[in-house]
Amino acid sequence: MSVNESLARNRYHPAASSHIALLDVDEQQQALLEKICPAGLFQRDASHRLAFNYHGCLECGCCRLIVGDSALREWRYPPSGCGITLRFG
Ligand code: SF4
Repeated sequence: MSVNESLARNRYHPAASSHIALLDVDEQQQALLEKICPAGLFQRDASHRLAFNYHGCLECGCCRLIVGDSALREWRYPPSGCGITLRFG
């Protein structure tokens, strides 16, 4: 089973608002976030600015580990009943 097939088995219930909020990030931090997020949620928009879509977040914490408080204003888990439900097998 490929990574994409495995990820497609999960269920996701998005909250009304994002559980992750970015500060202004520099070019190096943008590049790190683009590379580190396994769900590919950090992407450049048409004007080459970093855009973030919290839908599909795996709640792995990699973005928090790699850039920490210097680039994230907030990182928390989604409210109860929201977020990802991992399905294995
Ligand atoms: S917690 Fe993981 S999946 Fe969610 S935005 Fe951060 S790196 Fe991506």
